[in-house]
Amino acid sequence: MALAPPSGAEEIDAPDGAIAAVGAVRPGDGGTSGRNVGPGRVGAAGVAGTVPWAAASHQIVCEIAFRRLTDAGRELVATVMADDPEPAPAFYESCVWADSSRYGGHQSTYEYHFMNVVVAGADQIVMERDCAAFDCVQVAVARYARYLAADPAGNGALRERRAAALKFLGHFVGDLHQPLHVGYAYDRGGNDTRVRFFDDPEMRSLHSVWDFYIPDRMGLHADALASAERLDGEISAADAAAWGTFDIVGWSRESYEMVKGLVYDFPIDSRIGDDYFDGAVPVVERRLQQAGVRLALLINHIAAGTLELPPLFD
Ligand SMILES: [Zn+2]
Repeated sequence: MALAPPSGAEEIDAPDGAIAAVGAVRPGDGGTSGRNVGPGRVGAAGVAGTVPWAAASHQIVCEIAFRRLTDAGRELVATVMADDPEPAPAFYESCVWADSSRYGGHQSTYEYHFMNVVVAGADQIVMERDCAAFDCVQVAVARYARYLAADPAGNGALRERRAAALKFLGHFVGDLHQPLHVGYAYDRGGNDTRVRFFDDPEMRSLHSVWDFYIPDRMGLHADALASAERLDGEISAADAAAWGTFDIVGWSRESYEMVKGLVYDFPIDSRIGDDYFDGAVPVVERRLQQAGVRLALLINHIAAGTLELPPLFD
């Protein structure tokens, strides 16, 4: 039986599913605090059930990335985190802050967690159409990579902006790789599609199935650090090389291809069982791995002064 996500995880007005519940259960805790994201460590006995997997997934992505940082990359992360007024104890723990901050002092970042493709079933993402207000996850990744790369010199405000940028960057690279964060607007990224997950008596949103129930059943959220270590160890050098591009829009197109394919390919009776789950498992693992590899690539190149982002819009 799957652990239940926090109350409010389902009925939220956001394509973020269980992720938004971090804020939903602590609505007064937003703002710039880095400590309002639940227990500081996933995996300790009795703690895992209080942390939505979506939080653990972000921690896994950032821990995979951290393991792949160059010395200069680690130095940059340490320097930037030291400028944070309320630094997280470790980099992987900083990557869930974005989900609570959007209810506080960073409400303008709400749309940065996803992209809504406005034409259902469209062959392809069109940035000019689907991100017309420049408020989608692809823009967020590019923006915070640029902020992280900008030398704040002695300017205190810019140093704080850079500290926030690192936390946002780690989070949004993860969001972009969850397929339903690049979903259809009509369905709010799977939040309006209801399915039955195995023998769960409650109908769940398809979004929450991908955010929480599948990874939970996979056992990934019980210990984020252990999951990150395993997944990182299973990345071949060839995979890492193939994934290592700066093509942010291309990364999101991969998510969208899954939305057009296996994500909505569940039985007509809306019952999700072994067939669907077995198909999703390698996808979830690969997306976490890809996000970690690419986040490390961004940070390493920013640290080396060699960041090269292609244009997001044609
Ligand atoms: Zn998010």
